[in-house]
Amino acid sequence: MRAVEYLGPQQIELRRVPIPKPKAGELLVRVRSALTCGTDVKTYRRGHPKFPPPFVFGHEFGGDIVETGSDVEHFKAGMRVTANVFAECGECFFCRHGQGNLCEHLEYNFGAFAEYVIIPAPIVRVNTFEIPHHLSYAEAAVVEPLLTVVHGQRLLNIQPGESVAVIGAGGPISLMHIQMALLAGVSSIIAIGHSDLRLETARQLGAHHILNAHNIDTLAAIRELTEGRGADVVIECAGTKLAWETAVEVVRRGGRVEWFGGLPSGTKMELDATRLHYGAITLLNTHGGDAADARQAFQLLSDGRVNARALLSGELPLEQVETALKKMIAGEVIKMVINPDLH
Ligand SMILES: [Zn+2]
Ligand SMILES: [Zn+2]
Repeated sequence: MRAVEYLGPQQIELRRVPIPKPKAGELLVRVRSALTCGTDVKTYRRGHPKFPPPFVFGHEFGGDIVETGSDVEHFKAGMRVTANVFAECGECFFCRHGQGNLCEHLEYNFGAFAEYVIIPAPIVRVNTFEIPHHLSYAEAAVVEPLLTVVHGQRLLNIQPGESVAVIGAGGPISLMHIQMALLAGVSSIIAIGHSDLRLETARQLGAHHILNAHNIDTLAAIRELTEGRGADVVIECAGTKLAWETAVEVVRRGGRVEWFGGLPSGTKMELDATRLHYGAITLLNTHGGDAADARQAFQLLSDGRVNARALLSGELPLEQVETALKKMIAGEVIKMVINPDLH
């Protein structure tokens, strides 16, 4: 089969490799749609501390089961499925404390930018979903990034009538946060980003105020929109040091900041301790999610409360994964669908 291998920063290659065989508890899936993701972009640009090369790239996908390993229940050949990229063990210290996203034995699964992918047994058990007929393979594949947003939103516990500022708006994660905040009944969403093209999608999905940080003083604009106080909730989705610091500047006293976009390890921040302490500002950190978040995310996609189609900017063949990643980097697209049947 054809598979896109990740060989190191800025090195990916389409190769011919054997079609894998499913072992006990595993599924072999013919990939019909795979999605590019911010994590792929980060890994492509600078490598990933947790995932050394080489490996078959890509982790968000939808496809058809073609073969099941022994001891597989609930799934059979012919089913349309999607799966999360990881699963918690359910037994370690963190899992027993309801923090499955910090599991000591997280099982990961890469290999979606290929004609076939194996779903490992732990992920088959808790994080694989049959796709309902009304959802496309690509829409269903959004379950993985969405579950991390569901997890972050659970920590934020947004209340009806609150104001929310989203920094780094226009990227896929921010667009899902915007949709979830609207479901929570917020009174206003301020979307701050850099790409007019991507901010337009934020507006279409319901953001009330659009600020392009290139040509506006973000701090002043947010103060003006919130009677001088700052936003009740600030969600940082840009993954830059400046965005992390700005988030703390634009939240109101007594408000919550959630840092969502990870920074390179070793990054140090400059924060005003007085503002944090006497402003009683809550700082939340989140990444990943657990099986319960995945079930909730899949439900949100299935019943149409989260619009996944708005995040999908077009299709490209396996040969053009690198082009797709470069389009992501340039801010020209939100997510690209990689379709192995295209040539
Ligand atoms: Zn992803
Ligand atoms: Zn665990």
